Amino acid sequence: MQKNRYRIYSQYLKEKYGEKVYKIPINLPVTCPNRDGTVASGGCIFCGEEGAGFENLENSISVTEQLNRNISYIQKKYKAKKFIAYFQNFTNTYLPLEKFKEYIYEACQDNIVEISVSTRPDCVKDEYLAFLKEIKEKEQINISIELGLQSVNYHTLKKINRGHSLAELIDAIIRIKKHGFESCVHMILNLPWDDEEDVIEGAKIISALGVEQVKLHSLYILKNTMIGKMYENEEFKIIPLEEYIKRVTLFLEYLNPDIVLQRLVGRAPKENTLFCNWNTSWWKIKDAIDERMERLESYQGKKFNYLNGKALRPFFNA
Ligand code: SF4
Repeated sequence: MQKNRYRIYSQYLKEKYGEKVYKIPINLPVTCPNRDGTVASGGCIFCGEEGAGFENLENSISVTEQLNRNISYIQKKYKAKKFIAYFQNFTNTYLPLEKFKEYIYEACQDNIVEISVSTRPDCVKDEYLAFLKEIKEKEQINISIELGLQSVNYHTLKKINRGHSLAELIDAIIRIKKHGFESCVHMILNLPWDDEEDVIEGAKIISALGVEQVKLHSLYILKNTMIGKMYENEEFKIIPLEEYIKRVTLFLEYLNPDIVLQRLVGRAPKENTLFCNWNTSWWKIKDAIDERMERLESYQGKKFNYLNGKALRPFFNA
């Protein structure tokens, strides 16, 4: 069997839980401080009305009902037994603590082995993490936190209107680690304002912080978004597919080999987009990344040699 050139999430889950585990998206009636005026208005330039929840059920349906409906479908289809409750859409900690607790309690079911909470780096607070730690200990449910970052270049972060800089991400990761949870950072590797140096720096910073998982996205451009207008006005050029494939390979080479890759390519429904994945299916792009890595004998961590006093090596290798 061919050896994997990077750490694959589904295999990691199988090793961790002893069988296949499925992530069940939950859609809460929440918004985001970057959309409602608290941090900024309008949100990140690529964020659409639905956030990231294309596959989600309506947010008016209770957490229990969303879980039950999706689980019963997946149970029948795949005979699955273990699930991750994934609070996916918008900013899931942007809630009063008591309300947040109610939603999390609802997700604590027998077949849920992990609760994954997606949020922004500036919405990670000790009180919320302390509550999640209590849940982990009382309910024996693992906790993971997913954070949108997209770029480590703070000029790009301004350009895309993230409403936070790199410092908030560093702070959030330190806090999450202190509470004993794993984190997953989301990155877009083909933002038109980033170059290959930014991509490499992203892999190095994520590795240095001890992040456990990464989700890579290719930029897609939704209709009725700020970036959609910029695209129609030809204010930037889309990075070619070959360059995206190269950037993913570079990113993986600099990434700590222990980090798990949840995804290498973004996905969005075609009908809502002005541009998505160069009109190619995501799995073809993934195959092209695999082929390139194979051809160049590239692998995750090939250039992971820069931490722990790199310049002192001559004294230790003598
Ligand atoms: S942080 Fe997420 S939910 Fe908020 S505006 Fe940006 S992409 Fe949208």
